[in-house]
Amino acid sequence: MVFKQEYLHLNNGNKIPAVAVVGTGTRWYKSEETSATFSKPLVEQIKYALTLPGIIHIDAAEIYRTYSEVGEALKEAGRAREEIFITDKYSTFYFKLTDSPRQCLDISCQKMGVDYVDLFLLHSPFIDEKKYGFTLEEAWTQMEELYKAGKAKNIGVSNFSKEDLSRILKSGTIKPQVNQIEFSPFLQNQTPGIYDFCQKHDILLEAYSPLGPLQREPENSSSDPFYQYVKKLADKYQKSEASIILRWVSKRGVLPVTTSSKPQRVRDAQLLYDFDLQNSEVEEITKRGLAHAPLRLYWAEQMGKF
Ligand code: NDP
Repeated sequence: MVFKQEYLHLNNGNKIPAVAVVGTGTRWYKSEETSATFSKPLVEQIKYALTLPGIIHIDAAEIYRTYSEVGEALKEAGRAREEIFITDKYSTFYFKLTDSPRQCLDISCQKMGVDYVDLFLLHSPFIDEKKYGFTLEEAWTQMEELYKAGKAKNIGVSNFSKEDLSRILKSGTIKPQVNQIEFSPFLQNQTPGIYDFCQKHDILLEAYSPLGPLQREPENSSSDPFYQYVKKLADKYQKSEASIILRWVSKRGVLPVTTSSKPQRVRDAQLLYDFDLQNSEVEEITKRGLAHAPLRLYWAEQMGKF
């Protein structure tokens, strides 16, 4: 096996490993973080990922309550810090878990046993000023301070629409490097025009839940033109359907953020760039995906109107 590390370029000149193979949310998410909820399977999964070649991109967040597992896995694996890329997110939901991005990052770094994170995101634009005590623009200023202090090597946002991004592009001094959104063949614009907007402003899109079509595969998928085509490509390239979809995401210029409880699937994701799709195949997946009923797994209440 010849492994070649692939990177994408960020608007500040930094590089980011082109796939995140261990999302520590979704299937690993916990509503509380105690010794009783500590997930040994997640520790094992991260440790397994850390045996793979290349830089291992881990996607963490305050709301997932899985920092302790990340910390334990990093400690046990003993891999060099430069070979690990950690994304973290400050929780901006209905209630706040910590008072500020700075406090969140102090706690997360301490729990994960690191001095800095490689990418720090505002988890959503839904900041209720009354609960948080600061506006979206002020939250972004705090992110900029963490960037300048070197605690976050890159900063960005998640689930932001064009309008949300425009607010911080106007008020801020540093452009977000990343916008992490739900993106799959069945949801190619989480909010109207967000794909083109981020391309135009050189803000890298990351795709969470890229495998939505497989997570919600219908029973009659064998007669569905989208699934038929993905299966055909999987046979052609001797890859899994998941790899075909993740590679399609990357060919759209979007960084896939995936996860699995199965080591083989984590390995497949880390080796995603050892095959390529033709442009006509990328376009065909795009077309068949758009023809399908839209599928939105997250934030339906806030974004379902689109
Ligand atoms: P994916 O779309 O990659 O889905 C992963 C899930 O799909 C796993 O549960 C896995 O199950 C399953 N899967 C993998 N391969 C296949 C296959 N071939 N057939 C069927 N099912 C398959 O990503 P997630 O939705 O899990 O999100 C990934 C990460 O993104 C999260 O962990 C989190 O870090 C981040 N995220 C961020 C959000 C945000 O608001 N910023 C929101 C949601 C997620 P199995 O374990 O059986 O392999």
